[in-house]
Amino acid sequence: MLTLLILGCKTNKNHSFNLEENQKEKQEHPTNIILLIGDGMGLTQISAAMFSNNDRLALSKFPVVGFHKSHAANELITDSAAGATAISCGIKTNNGNIGTDENGVSIQSILEELDFIGLATGMIVTSSITHATPAAFAAHQARREMYEEIALDYLNTNIDLLIGGGRQYFQEREMDDRDLIKEFENKGYVIMDQLYTTMNKIKWPLDKNLIYFTADKQPLTVSGGRDYLSFAVRQGVQFLEQKSNKGFFLMVEGSQIDWMNHANDGRGVVMETLDFDRAIWEAIQYANRTGNTLVLVTADHESGGMSIESGSKINKLKYGFTTNGHTASMIPVFAYGPGSNLFNGIYQNTAIYKKMRKALQMKGEN
Ligand code: MG
Ligand code: ZN
Repeated sequence: MLTLLILGCKTNKNHSFNLEENQKEKQEHPTNIILLIGDGMGLTQISAAMFSNNDRLALSKFPVVGFHKSHAANELITDSAAGATAISCGIKTNNGNIGTDENGVSIQSILEELDFIGLATGMIVTSSITHATPAAFAAHQARREMYEEIALDYLNTNIDLLIGGGRQYFQEREMDDRDLIKEFENKGYVIMDQLYTTMNKIKWPLDKNLIYFTADKQPLTVSGGRDYLSFAVRQGVQFLEQKSNKGFFLMVEGSQIDWMNHANDGRGVVMETLDFDRAIWEAIQYANRTGNTLVLVTADHESGGMSIESGSKINKLKYGFTTNGHTASMIPVFAYGPGSNLFNGIYQNTAIYKKMRKALQMKGEN
């Protein structure tokens, strides 16, 4: 015990010394990336959330803003599967494809690459965890509806943290009788049955991987009472940071902004976007505290063709929509922390993948 204590002191001393010495390098190249994707969150959704919130958003703290072109390989208007695959794998693919190219060939995602080289990885979403956006980061399937196959793909990864809905695709499976939750437990995962109490009581360091299902199917809307996203991000980064000394990659999705666009529900869009913005605030706080974290916020595409109509006032907006589907307008990319300067300008959605790899100084042809 005494030896441990002495070692502990020594480590701490070296640690603080190195921290100062490495500060400059750390500021140039991030150790961690937190990538936050607001599904369907275009400029109008962001504007509507800001003007409904006393003209304030955490997003307005970001010093670097660029734009990406969201289109898919086969259509100018992307879906979330092709949109997320572009960001996660760096390739344009056809709508509906999850982590595969136009010919159905599986492409390794940045999350998988980083897992392979020893970083901790996680995903926190407000849809089912098998939905298109998170799926493109850790699964490879021809069609986005293959939720049970996507759940099985997760079992073959080493992902450290999963928080989202969709328990039914793990346990009440139609394609086989497998109980993936048992199989995850056998692999050493802890399936949390309560998010708040479990994550508040975790004794660090914790060597296990964690999964929490927020719903059997899709989680509630914000207006229906869902409120876990920012808490999960705050606790999630702390969990991931102690899982690997090489750093972590966390993907966070505000999944339901898109669904409110599809429903042409302006108030719902604002509530979901503000919930997402609270998670962004947690990510910025963490980045500020640590100095080694690149925070990126973007969307896969716009949806709804949303507008803020004449007669609107701050905190009293009138909304219009041109479609129940998606649109092709360019999508903002907000960057904060070391490596953020790479994200200035106008580029393809696939460039986000390349820029993340560049920021992390990853080797290889990409
Ligand atoms: Mg999504
Ligand atoms: Zn959509």
